[in-house]
Amino acid sequence: MTSPTAPVTPNPHFPHLFTPLQINGLTLPNRIVMGSMHTGLEDRVWDTDKLAAYYAERARGGAGLIITGGFATSRAGQLVILGGKMTNTLEVVRHRTITRAVHEAGGLIAMQLIHAGRYGYNPFKVAAGSEPSPIHPFKHLKMTDRIIWHTIKTFGQSAKLAERAGYDAIELMGGEGYLINQFLCPHTNDRTDKWGGSTENRQRFLVEIIKEVRKQVSADFPVILRQSIADFVKNGQTWDEIALMARKAEEFGVDAINTDIGWHEAGVPTIVTSVPRGAFVKFTERLRDEVSIPLIASNRINTPEFAEDILERGRVDAVSMARPMLADPDLPNKARDGRSDEINTCIGCNQACLDHAFVGKKVSCLLNPRAGRETTLTLGATRRARHVAVIGAGPAGLAAAVSAAQRGHRVELFEAGESIGGQFSIAARIPGKEEFNETIRYYTRQLEINNVTVHLGKRVSAEEILDGSASAAKGEAAKFDDVVIATGVVPRIPDIPGIDHPMVMSYADAVLGRRDIGKRVAVIGAGGIGFDVTEFLTVDESPTLNLKEWEQEWGVSEDLSIPGFVTKPRPLPPVREVFLVQRKPGRQGKTLGKTSGWVHRAAVKMKGVEQISGATYDLIDDEGLHITVHDKEGNETGKRVLEVDNVVVCAGQESVRDLVDPLTVAGITTHVIGGADLASELDAKRAIRQGTEVAASLP
Ligand code: FAD
Ligand code: NAP
Ligand code: SF4
Repeated sequence: MTSPTAPVTPNPHFPHLFTPLQINGLTLPNRIVMGSMHTGLEDRVWDTDKLAAYYAERARGGAGLIITGGFATSRAGQLVILGGKMTNTLEVVRHRTITRAVHEAGGLIAMQLIHAGRYGYNPFKVAAGSEPSPIHPFKHLKMTDRIIWHTIKTFGQSAKLAERAGYDAIELMGGEGYLINQFLCPHTNDRTDKWGGSTENRQRFLVEIIKEVRKQVSADFPVILRQSIADFVKNGQTWDEIALMARKAEEFGVDAINTDIGWHEAGVPTIVTSVPRGAFVKFTERLRDEVSIPLIASNRINTPEFAEDILERGRVDAVSMARPMLADPDLPNKARDGRSDEINTCIGCNQACLDHAFVGKKVSCLLNPRAGRETTLTLGATRRARHVAVIGAGPAGLAAAVSAAQRGHRVELFEAGESIGGQFSIAARIPGKEEFNETIRYYTRQLEINNVTVHLGKRVSAEEILDGSASAAKGEAAKFDDVVIATGVVPRIPDIPGIDHPMVMSYADAVLGRRDIGKRVAVIGAGGIGFDVTEFLTVDESPTLNLKEWEQEWGVSEDLSIPGFVTKPRPLPPVREVFLVQRKPGRQGKTLGKTSGWVHRAAVKMKGVEQISGATYDLIDDEGLHITVHDKEGNETGKRVLEVDNVVVCAGQESVRDLVDPLTVAGITTHVIGGADLASELDAKRAIRQGTEVAASLP
């Protein structure tokens, strides 16, 4: 165990988190490491300034160490065609812009070196074995002995270039199923030469890379290894192999291990919001018995309180917070100053980060649309404060109100309900989406500290806005300069015979517990909300799974001699029999998130939900829901009666726009955002982005 240099005065709020950490020649001011995330800005030279600004903002926010997204050590190792790499002196010059910006902002930055292997979206790719990638289309070339040695050299060369570019450390990507991990695992390494077969042979590639890198960089230059300590794939590594590899890494000159969990193709979710916080820290803690170099824990660590608890237990030296630093670049400084209630906590939704990365879009954050747009979406102080009315305290209205107030505008927020959050508060009641409550907490606090006047239980009319009687102010001061209409959406009531039958209820009524729900339920509509509601209906009233139950549900093995630690999932039985029905033919849940959709689809399947596509809704009566079912070609295949106690309607939403015309016609400056603007394809990502953009657009 490393013994950190004791600070003169321990931080009163998070003493362990704010203790410096020594990694070889580098002293981190605190234990918060911003883990590597590919943003899409790495790949194009003209995005260098944007990338520098993105990292500099996080350095100013107090991150102990920033690790860049992965830069390839060769063209064959690129994540995407023409993706970011570190292979020549021109690239060194480009990267000095980044390292300079971070250093000027008072931060430290490490470059992650990656070879994607079979995970490359790249026609030139090479890989350890013959097994094709299940996530990318291009075929790869199985590496020859000559290519292997060349690849080892490229790691050394790139490490040397990174040091010359001013990086404070490098991280070798050895996890998540990328090339190094592909060599380590029998799952992807079917070689019969000296690079495959026995544990020693499979580990040889990484050992040689470490030796080569150590040869090429200065003795005190930190080399961090991102090591997969739980592959969660069949034929993954056993614990003994992982422990042995960690010991070898230390022996051959790795200065810290940043632990990594799960491959991209793993059947166990590892970072989505339904994964319990810190679910995998125990794996990192177990490694403590094997090595004495610093260990960094990662995955679903999103608050300083949780991080402090981990560090206090004394078996881990630092925590990796990647997405939490996207959501709030000032997380470390806020924690340091005892203002952790002001942190915009990452909710693990993946909607604007990983989901974007996997479809080649620039990464941002659902909660913080400025992420990746630091130079273009700015919220500078206003020179002339305006009196702004924001109507509706859903995500759109909250983002608009807080951002406008932060800029110095005088903001009043009107909400018809008794609390803030809008539809998002319903989302927070779904099992596995409890993190969404953090967003409500964040906005509650931000409204307070930014002096927004909040009117709860106040459904305002256009007249009250126009004559100023809605305002807390009096006389001329009550008149509004701008009105932001963020009145959101209401559930759509489809036109089905019997829709007013007492057994029918909206998703809001079901989730908010306004109505009793029977044991057999049909859900109309299999969109995002239909899936969420179905999951809600299949579990009991206190849905949060403890870690043990969650591991059972997803088949995480307690027996670490099992390769990859995966076993047969043992889900808890459903508390209700649920039918999930949609009109479209074909597979359900196609529109769910790229990286989270499979988890929802698997969760519904494991609860035995009957999924019916291609249905038309004929009638709802005392017998239940009468449907006609069609095949993919639209031919009728039969009629059915789903004998249920209740029907829950999740058939999309409609905009609430009753204030738009009267206010616009009256000539007042109006801005319509979120669901009020457009109900189709609405999500909190768009709502918050529009709210932030409207605040940025005010003079
Ligand atoms: P709303 O949330 O509808 O808020 C509008 C607010 O305006 C309401 O509070 C309403 O009371 C108020 N209002 C209306 N008229 C007036 C008036 N005249 N005066 C005062 N107040 C008024 N999105 C995601 O991105 N990811 C998810 O995982 C996700 N999961 C979801 C799960 C569920 C179960 C549900 C129901 C929604 C989910 N959503 C999710 C959708 C997300 O919550 C909505 O897209 C988002 O809330 C829309 O924001 P909004 O501010 O435009 O509208
Ligand atoms: P949605 O995804 O558009 O789904 C609406 C569903 O209702 C569809 O399955 C549609 O399918 C059905 N439908 C539409 N009109 C109907 C009608 N007249 N009669 C019967 N069925 C009808 O919308 P949503 O589920 O309400 O979700 C709203 C938004 O919240 C979505 O845009 C989503 O992005 C967001 N959200 C996201 C997540 C997430 O995990 N990322 C989770 C929840 C919600 P058919 O037409 O085939 O029947
Ligand atoms: Fe976290 Fe969601 Fe933002 Fe990604 S988009 S950083 S998961 S809050």
